[in-house]
Amino acid sequence: MKKLVSIVIPAYNEADNIFVIIESIKNVFSNLNYDHEIILVDDGSADQTLEKIKEYAETSANVFFLEFSKNFGHQLAVKAGMDHAFGDCVISMDCDMQHPPDLIPEMLKKWEEGNEVVYTIREDDKSLSKSKRSSSSLFYKVLNNLSDIELEPGSADFRLLDQKVVNVFRNFHENEPFLRGLVKWLGFKQYALKYNPAARFAGKSKYTVKKMIRLALHGVTSFSIKPLYTAVYLGFILSLASVLYIPYVLYSFINNVEVSGWASVIMTIVFFGGLQLIILGIIGIYVGKMFMQTKNRPNYIIRSTNIQNK
Ligand code: UDP
Ligand code: MG
Repeated sequence: MKKLVSIVIPAYNEADNIFVIIESIKNVFSNLNYDHEIILVDDGSADQTLEKIKEYAETSANVFFLEFSKNFGHQLAVKAGMDHAFGDCVISMDCDMQHPPDLIPEMLKKWEEGNEVVYTIREDDKSLSKSKRSSSSLFYKVLNNLSDIELEPGSADFRLLDQKVVNVFRNFHENEPFLRGLVKWLGFKQYALKYNPAARFAGKSKYTVKKMIRLALHGVTSFSIKPLYTAVYLGFILSLASVLYIPYVLYSFINNVEVSGWASVIMTIVFFGGLQLIILGIIGIYVGKMFMQTKNRPNYIIRSTNIQNK
């Protein structure tokens, strides 16, 4: 019997990409000795994304859809797809053709060689905008310095997971999973493949700078409490500095040296006020996460699907 490969694709307002991505995946599999199923997760799109997928699902027995009740975000869309996949392995990829389907045969080859996770690293590509490239490299620098996991710059959500790994993931109920980090954290036998990203086929990127910052903050705070330690060390250093400053102030006071103070006092207040807010904010993020997680709400809600018995 042929092995089944599940392809999971999150789609948020990607109506113009559905046709191309499905066709190119089918094309790739026509030359491979595997069965495949394509699971498209409609992440609360406002355009014709769902209709386009349904059109396909009517005529192709191996095209499935999961419709979210609203936009839950890319990571949860991928997670939902994995939760509902039947395959011996699951490949997740974007809907916009930036993750080339042509890489699938090589991923499968590495999987057959015994790797349980085949993840991909985006080669620094000149066709990507400069701001995207520099924000992406900053993202990984911040993440690696502040958390306990090491992610290669350019790690993408384009990866193959063995069924074993997918089953482990089913037991994860984080309400904001950071898949790239989680996969690294899981262990298993991992292999990194390099690829050249293509340009987005249609539509525009849904990852705004704001979403990137959120993902970075989230990535850091889900994997370590290093930022809290940093706050403690910073507190120590500043206290020490202030102790060293005291003799100078006393000296000026005893000797009646006039110290003009207004500017320096205001600056100090503003600086330390800001610093305290940042540190409070960091603590707040952790507390907020605990709050969200303890409510134990479902991570995503499915309005409709054509996948049965799962
Ligand atoms: N996506 C999603 N929900 C969102 C944002 C994005 O499902 O809230 C999907 C999107 O349709 C695409 C993938 O996640 O398939 C990656 O998004 P995008 O291409 O916009 O990100 P970029 O490649 O620019 O980082
Ligand atoms: Mg993209």
